[in-house]
Amino acid sequence: MRPEILEYNMDWMLCSIMMAASKTADGSRKEYDRLQPYIPYFSGILEPMVNAGKPGITFLKMFTDYLDNIVTAHDKGKKVALTTFCFSPSILYSIDVVPVTLEILTTFGRLMWRRGIVDYLDYCVELGLTETACSAQRGSMGAYLAGLGAHVDMVICDTPGVCDTNANSFTFAAAYLDKPYFQLNYPQTIGDERTDKYHLEDYMAMIDFLEKNTGKKLDLDRLKLTLDEIKIQDQLVSDLEDYHRLVPTPLPVIFNLFIYAGRFMFAGEPIYTKLLKEMLEVAGEKAAKGESGLTSGKENLRAFMCYIDHYAINLQFYDWLNDNGIAHLGGILSRTFNIASPYIKGLEGSGYSIDTSSIETMIDSIAQMNARMPMVRSIRGQYDKPGMWLEETLALAKMFKVDCIIYNGTPGCRNTWGMVKPFAMDLEKHGYPTHVMYGDAFDERVESWEASLERLNEFFNVRGLL
Ligand code: SF4
Repeated sequence: MRPEILEYNMDWMLCSIMMAASKTADGSRKEYDRLQPYIPYFSGILEPMVNAGKPGITFLKMFTDYLDNIVTAHDKGKKVALTTFCFSPSILYSIDVVPVTLEILTTFGRLMWRRGIVDYLDYCVELGLTETACSAQRGSMGAYLAGLGAHVDMVICDTPGVCDTNANSFTFAAAYLDKPYFQLNYPQTIGDERTDKYHLEDYMAMIDFLEKNTGKKLDLDRLKLTLDEIKIQDQLVSDLEDYHRLVPTPLPVIFNLFIYAGRFMFAGEPIYTKLLKEMLEVAGEKAAKGESGLTSGKENLRAFMCYIDHYAINLQFYDWLNDNGIAHLGGILSRTFNIASPYIKGLEGSGYSIDTSSIETMIDSIAQMNARMPMVRSIRGQYDKPGMWLEETLALAKMFKVDCIIYNGTPGCRNTWGMVKPFAMDLEKHGYPTHVMYGDAFDERVESWEASLERLNEFFNVRGLL
C-alpha cells in the first residue's frame, strides 16, 4: 500500500469528506457556487447529489451519519460488525451493534475518491485473498485488514451459496483479524415450511451469537420500533415502484441508488423514512406534470439492470443514462419483496410480510425479510428454477415495461457468470435485448469506463435501440 494511503483511516477520512460535503448545501446557492473552484476533486460527485434537491442532500447527511456511527461506535459503548449488503442491518441496530457494510463503503469510496480504493483492493491480495474475490468487499476490506478503520468486534455474513467469493472474503477477514464469526445459512427454498423453520432457528442462533458477543440482550421494544418503521419504509418503496410503472417514469436515475443504498445502511431507521418521503414528493410532483425523471427531460428508452449498477467515478454511468434519455427502472438491489410491492402479483410466494404481534412473529418476520435480500432471494441456485433470477427478471421487466436489460457485476460474481449467457439468451427469446457488461463495477482497471461505454453504445446502436 502506498505510504500516503497509510496516513488516514478510511472510514474517518470518508466521514470527514462527507461531513464537509453535506454542509455545502446548507448555505445559499451563491455560496455553493463560490465553493466549486476550491473542490475540483469532489464537485463531480457533489453536483449531481445537490442537483437531486432535498433527497440528494438528505442522502449526503445520511451517509455522513452512517460513517460517523462507525467512527464513534466504541466511544459510545457500541460494538462494530463487518457485514454485507445481502444481510439486513436492522437486527444489528436492535442490539446496538454498528454495521460496517463493506460494499457500501467500497461503492461510495469508488464514486467519490479516485486515489485510494485500488490500494485497499490490492492489499487484500497481498495478504493472500484471491484477486478474483469480489471487489465490492475488497475495496474497503483492505483498509480494515490494514488497521485503517474502526476496530472490528465481529463478522456476520451469509453462506457461500449466495455468493462464494463474498462469503469467502468475510471468512478471510474473520480469520485474519481473529474475530468471532457467524455465517447465516441461506434458505435453500423460499416459502416452504421446513426451510422457513430451519431458517428461523438459524436466525435465532445468530441472535444468540450477537447477545454473547455484545453482552447485551436483544431489545424487543427497539426491534418492534424497527419493524414498524420498515413497514412504513416498504410501503414508501412500493409507492415509488408504482411511479416507476408510469411512462415516462418520474423517478430520477439517481433515486434507484438512494433506494437501495439507504436500505442497506439504515433499514428501520427514521432517516431512511425521511429520504423515501422526500423522493416520493419529487416523483409525485413530476408524475402530476407527466414529466420524466431524467435530467435530459425526455425518456427514449427504459432499461432494467438485472444485477448491479456501474460505479464509475463521479456517477458517470448515471450521467450516461441521463444524457441518452435512458430511464433506469431499478434492479436486483432496489426491490424489497415485501408483499405490498406491485410486482409480487407475478411472483407469488416470493414476498414477506411483517407481523409484530409477538416475539416469535417479530423474529420470523425479520428472518424472512433477510431471506429476501439481494442474491439470497434469487441468485442462490439454478437461474431458471421457479422464483429465481430468470422468473424474477422477466416479471419485473414486464411490469416496468422495459425495452432492454443490462447485466453488470464484477469478475468475482461466479454465481452469475456461470449462468449469465443462457440467462441472457432466455431473456432475448422473451423479446428483451440484453447486454452483458464485462467490466468490474468497482475496479476500472479490469475494463476502463471508456471501454465499457464504447460497448454499451455499440449495443444500443447495433440493436437499433437509440
Ligand atoms: S454476487 Fe458479485 S457483486 Fe455480489 S457479492 Fe458476489 S461477487 Fe460481489
